[in-house]
Amino acid sequence: MKKILPALALVFIIIWSGCTGGSDDQYEIRDFDAFFERLIALKHAEAMFIWDMETGLTPPGAIEARANTIAVISAEIFAMSTSDEMQRFFRTVEAGQRRGEIDEISLGIYRIAKRDYDMLMAIPADEYRAFSELTTISFSKWLDAREADDFSIFAPYLQELIDYQRKFIEYRRQAGIVYANPYDAMLDDFEPGMTVEIMDPFFDELRAAIVPLLRDIMAEVDREGGKNIRTDFLERRIPLPIQRNLSQLIMYTVGFDPGRGVIGESEHPFSIGFGQSDVRITTNYDEDNFIASFYTVMHECGHAIYDQNVARELEGTILDTGTSMSIHESQSRFLENMIGRSYEFWQGIYDDFMRVTEGYFYDVSMRELYEAMNTVTPSLIRVDADELTYSLHIMVRYEIEKMIFNNPNLNAEDLPGLWNEKMQEYLGVRPENYAEGILQDVHWSYGEFGYFPTYALGNAYAAQIWNAMEKDFDLSAAVRALDFETINTWLTGKIHRHGSLLDSQQILAQITDEGFTSRYYIDYLTQKYAALYGIQ
Ligand code: ZN
Repeated sequence: MKKILPALALVFIIIWSGCTGGSDDQYEIRDFDAFFERLIALKHAEAMFIWDMETGLTPPGAIEARANTIAVISAEIFAMSTSDEMQRFFRTVEAGQRRGEIDEISLGIYRIAKRDYDMLMAIPADEYRAFSELTTISFSKWLDAREADDFSIFAPYLQELIDYQRKFIEYRRQAGIVYANPYDAMLDDFEPGMTVEIMDPFFDELRAAIVPLLRDIMAEVDREGGKNIRTDFLERRIPLPIQRNLSQLIMYTVGFDPGRGVIGESEHPFSIGFGQSDVRITTNYDEDNFIASFYTVMHECGHAIYDQNVARELEGTILDTGTSMSIHESQSRFLENMIGRSYEFWQGIYDDFMRVTEGYFYDVSMRELYEAMNTVTPSLIRVDADELTYSLHIMVRYEIEKMIFNNPNLNAEDLPGLWNEKMQEYLGVRPENYAEGILQDVHWSYGEFGYFPTYALGNAYAAQIWNAMEKDFDLSAAVRALDFETINTWLTGKIHRHGSLLDSQQILAQITDEGFTSRYYIDYLTQKYAALYGIQ
């Protein structure tokens, strides 16, 4: 997971800027250097308090006080993002553009800041504040509901969050931010420009390919004498010092720069960046499930290496980070899944893995490790899902979210039934309780709809990246040789160095002239899993 700190979150005190006019001042871009330096410092301060909280550095007695500190900083960021000074910056860039003398970086900053500004200004401040306050309460109600396995505790709050978002879409429309499908507004928050028109065929194609393949695999597993993957060693108890050494091995191998990043521990792993010179990741160790942290570290390293390799000339600007959630997820999933779960990677890492794990896997072959990392098991929990079934979990959420924003008569209380039906239809499993069903994810409790699809998009982008990279050099050989220098140089040239200067579509254009397509992702999944399970 990549922690994002949207201007739209955690705002409790809102300073509503009234000024929109003013004379076209004779300002220059560099007159705003101090303003942006201050804005970025505040964002870093906010991120630092969040890092402390999540990694257990905040003393328990100070949690409420520090939450207040974060709220105050957030409000200050909001105030700056909508201030007269920001509007003056916009006018200065626009004037420079008219004269044809604006640099690319200033234009990039303008694009991001103006988008935030327009979104923030579309919604009345008092309603936005009420929504923000509601998310704090709804999060704790979600925790209570999960604990008690009682959806009715959370349902009224979820309903209120949905009502707010439905209303906000209408406010955006009134402000001239118009979407073809109401749900596009939610998708656009996390992946600018993403629409139902693009996502519907994407998920249709995925469903058509994965659901039957999954049925074939399950039939093969159930068949007498069918494919049987050995997984017993995944449950071996691996002491934490060894697991920490494994983390170091991965970070060292894949090219994480320890001079500009650290690893911590948190309940829910994430990565967080303070610009390219300071990128932090976390993992969560479980003695009885070493593989969870192993792949978490690979995943978070993908996010971190992206942020660490932004071009130097973007340092100190708001462009000094990855461009969108989906492109960010493409980097983490490329490393975690496409590389980390490949046979070539296990060929390359096997000896080091055996050395670092000090004999715990003395009886396990390379092939057995590879196969165990790729076992397909339809399950109820998204975060535990294997690579093949993962996108089906996303599809369930996508379809429900789309219905919420297209059917005003659909209410929170209708959702658990829908959830269970779709899980049965796509994965062939049905939740027995709410905690393993609709209450498993935190996202909706924050009022975040439209976030999930970025995970599936990231997978599809990753496959397109793999396909493009293969044309430039022998990628399988590079993975087998653990030649991450070559791989990261390619990624940096096409993706990382651009930071947020280019948007998702422009990044994709650096990689391929085909545009977004599900084809390579579907081909990749089909070939890999058909081969693994011996299916024609
Ligand atoms: Zn992630």
